[in-house]
Amino acid sequence: MSSAAFKVGVLGSGISGAVRASTLARNGVSVTLFESARGPGGRMSQRRERTEDGTELHFDHGAPFFSVSKSEVLHLVQEWESRGLVAEWKEKFASFDFHTLKFNNIEQEGSSKRYVGVPGMNSICKALCNESGVESKFGVGIGRIEWLHDEKLWSLIGVDGQNLGQFKGLVASDKNIVSPRVAEVTGRTPPLDIKLVPELSEKLLDLPVKPCFIVMLAFAEPLSTVPVKAFSFENSEVLSQAYCDSSKPNRSTTSERWVLHSTAEYAEDIIAQTGLKKPSDITLNKVAEQLLQEFQSTGLITSQPFFKKAHRWGSAFPAASIAQEEKCLWDRNKRLAICGDFCVSPNVEGAIDSAFAAALRLKDSVSSL
Ligand SMILES: Cc1cc2nc3c(=O)[nH]c(=O)nc-3n(C[C@H](O)[C@H](O)[C@H](O)COP(=O)(O)OP(=O)(O)OC[C@H]3O[C@@H](n4cnc5c(N)ncnc54)[C@H](O)[C@@H]3O)c2cc1C
Repeated sequence: MSSAAFKVGVLGSGISGAVRASTLARNGVSVTLFESARGPGGRMSQRRERTEDGTELHFDHGAPFFSVSKSEVLHLVQEWESRGLVAEWKEKFASFDFHTLKFNNIEQEGSSKRYVGVPGMNSICKALCNESGVESKFGVGIGRIEWLHDEKLWSLIGVDGQNLGQFKGLVASDKNIVSPRVAEVTGRTPPLDIKLVPELSEKLLDLPVKPCFIVMLAFAEPLSTVPVKAFSFENSEVLSQAYCDSSKPNRSTTSERWVLHSTAEYAEDIIAQTGLKKPSDITLNKVAEQLLQEFQSTGLITSQPFFKKAHRWGSAFPAASIAQEEKCLWDRNKRLAICGDFCVSPNVEGAIDSAFAAALRLKDSVSSL
């Protein structure tokens, strides 16, 4: 069978779905990628906001940057760098102690490399989803995944009941694919019935996750009293990190934009009160106010932001890695790969590493047909 006749469906356009789709397409496999969100990126996406006076603001509201330690991943990142999709973010990082109200551990320049997508974190996924051989469908959530036993094909059905086609192979990059969390968040049953691939699915059933709230802030003037553009907080029950988005390469500098990240404990506490369903505007406004107040209590900021908005990541970080050795879950008979950061490590590099493993399994499976 030719690779092109081997159709693979990909669920998700986060970095693992996008890398996998592009790797398969480069190997001549015909790929259709489905993403429930309006645009690509998943937890590496970029948020576009408009203020009341019509000013457009962009925020990296998921991963603020990523680092690389594995040579195979570095090789790919260098290719992206040469294509102008990523650049090094050369700011010094530090930590701020709420007890002493002082900065500690201000880094020496160049002590570690951090990469960002340019002009936004989503640029990498966007480019990969547009590569030749990848057909990407955004705003199309997969509601049900069925196995056609006689034909030995996967059949995908949209959340609206639409038939999305049949595929010889399937790769899924969402950790909630079989999890009852889907029902708690959306009210729908999870797309994949655990009975179809029990050995794989069981590992995903109780995968612990850590939530995070972020707040996007825009200031008319630079926060000149803050000596660094990225820092973590020590001894705060509310804040964990702060990043100045407008200090990243190729960003607009017409305003100074910061993204504050909450601690997981703070987010868990809010979720315990409000539930897992989409948070209301009242909740988000309250969170935005609380995180801003904590930031202001550092004494570092004297001006008020002209824009503030919170976002919730219900499962920002997987709190376990379920396939450290194999790097993805793989059912050879049904040609189903499940990959993502939850397989290897809770970061962009872990997601890419897992995507490589899943693409390899499927590529080998095409060659053996
Ligand atoms: C606030 C925050 C801070 C972070 N900080 C860092 C950091 O500093 N450094 C770092 O390396 N990493 C960081 N991360 C983690 C990093 O973003 C993730 O590890 C990585 O982006 C995961 O990629 P993924 O492809 O595995 O998953 P995801 O990006 O979650 O992709 C899964 C995709 O599947 C889609 N999907 C789900 N269900 C369906 C369905 N039924 N049908 C269609 N599509 C579906 C989702 O919409 C999503 O786009 C951070 C994450 C967050 C949220």
